[in-house]
Amino acid sequence: MLVTGGNRGIGLAIAKAFAAQGDQVAVTHRSGADGLPAELLPVQCDVTDAAAVDAAFSEVEEKHGPVQVLVSNAGMNDDTLLMRMSEDSFTKVIDANLTAAYRVAKRASRGMLKAKSGRMIFISSVVGLTGSAGQVNYAASKSGLVGLARSIARELGSRGITANVVAPGFVDTDMTRALPDARRAEILGQVPLGRYADAREIASAVTWLGSEDAGYVTGAVIPVDGGLGMGH
Ligand code: NDP
Repeated sequence: MLVTGGNRGIGLAIAKAFAAQGDQVAVTHRSGADGLPAELLPVQCDVTDAAAVDAAFSEVEEKHGPVQVLVSNAGMNDDTLLMRMSEDSFTKVIDANLTAAYRVAKRASRGMLKAKSGRMIFISSVVGLTGSAGQVNYAASKSGLVGLARSIARELGSRGITANVVAPGFVDTDMTRALPDARRAEILGQVPLGRYADAREIASAVTWLGSEDAGYVTGAVIPVDGGLGMGH
């Protein structure tokens, strides 16, 4: 199985959870793979580069065989209000979060179609469903993943391939540690469970979607958000 952006944060927690159940796990990284557990296969890949995605899959296929479970997790944000958001900021975030998911899904579908089975799991966000002031680019990319996954679910379901979305709320990672204290406190005030998620709590939903037990689940959006998005 392959996790994009698996060198830190939520992606690393997902990779470790699959490895802990005995799966062969490859992780893509861009900034480096220092300190990764030895059981994870690190593969250099910038997901905004289609040739790099193709090369990364070829390397994983050579070492582990075809990718049976794909977790499209790599993502970034570049927050600012609409009035100040440059077109470059908008397209950069869409490219890294949404177009990249299309790239990896398309590449993964090749092997999955041959195998007549496969699991694709896309890491979206609660803000893709609720919207978020200051995150027009990020929220658009994350809601785009819902349409992408559900279309794949319809296209490839007859070939035994499932496509699902996990929508985390606020998780304690580098991405949220970068938020100002006042914003962190404001967010916590809106979370019924009153705390951030541990990345392992996102990973457990993802491993379930990748398991035999979830064989009849496709096109689903599973919130893991402490109740933040209820009703969306
Ligand atoms: P981090 O910022 O901790 O890690 C981001 C990961 O994505 C890194 O592995 C990074 O690689 C990788 N990445 C970013 N851009 C690219 C790129 N162009 N090519 C390859 N890899 C890239 O984020 P999180 O772990 O917090 O987030 C993981 C996912 O979960 C993201 O999609 C995020 O949007 C989503 N999410 C996070 C939430 C949170 O509260 N933290 C909430 C909801 C969703 P590198 O180290 O090389 O930069």
